[in-house]
Amino acid sequence: MLRYWIHLLQEKRLYCSTCNAITSHRILAREPFSIHAEIPPEIPLVCQCKICESFVIAFSHEIFFGTKNAKAEYAKLLSQNRLAPGDWVYVDGKQRPSLVDAVYKTQTEEIIDVEYDGQKEKLKRSILTQFNEKAPFGFRLLPAQVGETLLGDPIYHVLRKMIGVAIGSVFDKDVKKLVVQLENGKIVFITLPDEFQPLPDSILLRRLTERVQQRFPNLGNSIRLNVVHNVVYVYGSVSNLPDKEAIARFVKMQPNFRGVVDMLSVYCVGSPVSDEEISREAFRILENEKSPFFCNEVHVKENVLYINAYYFADAHLEKIKSDLHHILGLRDLKLELEEVPLPPPTMRKRAEILLATLKAKYTDCNFHVIPLSEGILVEGSVKNIWQKGAVNIFILQNSKGLKINTRLRVDA
Ligand SMILES: [Zn+2]
Repeated sequence: MLRYWIHLLQEKRLYCSTCNAITSHRILAREPFSIHAEIPPEIPLVCQCKICESFVIAFSHEIFFGTKNAKAEYAKLLSQNRLAPGDWVYVDGKQRPSLVDAVYKTQTEEIIDVEYDGQKEKLKRSILTQFNEKAPFGFRLLPAQVGETLLGDPIYHVLRKMIGVAIGSVFDKDVKKLVVQLENGKIVFITLPDEFQPLPDSILLRRLTERVQQRFPNLGNSIRLNVVHNVVYVYGSVSNLPDKEAIARFVKMQPNFRGVVDMLSVYCVGSPVSDEEISREAFRILENEKSPFFCNEVHVKENVLYINAYYFADAHLEKIKSDLHHILGLRDLKLELEEVPLPPPTMRKRAEILLATLKAKYTDCNFHVIPLSEGILVEGSVKNIWQKGAVNIFILQNSKGLKINTRLRVDA
């Protein structure tokens, strides 16, 4: 399984239960992601110990990558953080953090107006020159937030009055515990409350197997399911990409799981479909005059189709996405799309006229004419290199005063 997780996202010091120590871990993904951009949730990641090479699966929404998760709740500390209105601030000895209303300074003090349990209060601290920028978003307060704490989260242990980092999550028999390293180096194991404890895998697996068999009665034999620490693994092979995606979607919708690791492959029965055939079929779809995609870069490798393309803000993409997914022999589809603003109506009109002229003259070619803000793009395919030259000249003659770009392929 590990051989598919090849993209290194980050290295983190985490607790390894095999080494029984804090060691450097590689965090690996199956696809390239940048931790500087937000990584989408539900992506299965491998966290592998660099010493003993044992690994655990954690999902992207279970790891803290340093960007603030909008839904997450982090509290700043009155003793060390910069504060601004809208922040949550924690004061030692209180039950909960307070919401900051306003912050202002006198000559010697900083005064912070807060709301605590519906009451207005004033907090004071001497003017700080040093802030703790290790956790500019704040901390998870432990033990209260132990269930929501992510791997790598900065934490504040309220009872011990110490900051630290969440470095792991371990299973002691079937009991889940959060592993925290405090600022004094000490490692603490905190048992998660009952509502965050995993359900028995065997029960979840039985329930899931029944539902999958009911929903996909014809595919029952080609799919194998497993559940480990409440993570679903889907193995096996199906004959087309839409089936694979439908199964993954269905499994992801089931409650009580941490996430899904989709290991299903697409295996085409009969004679294998070549990358060239997939590429030709992709171009046939993309060069259709109604295709919303343009400036397409198409690349096929081992039956995986990669497309880079642009589309206009008002485009409907469901149909073309579905058409692409249904290409015979496709193992996977990777779309990288960028939306662009609508072109001016005059340019749309001119593109329509040019398309009609081209279609009337060259009935055996495919043309896709795209109005842009400052000109027109003509894509498509022609039969040979001579025809390509002739078409280019014809386009120039029929588009006086327009800036024209052509991207014509020769498709014999
Ligand atoms: Zn290890």
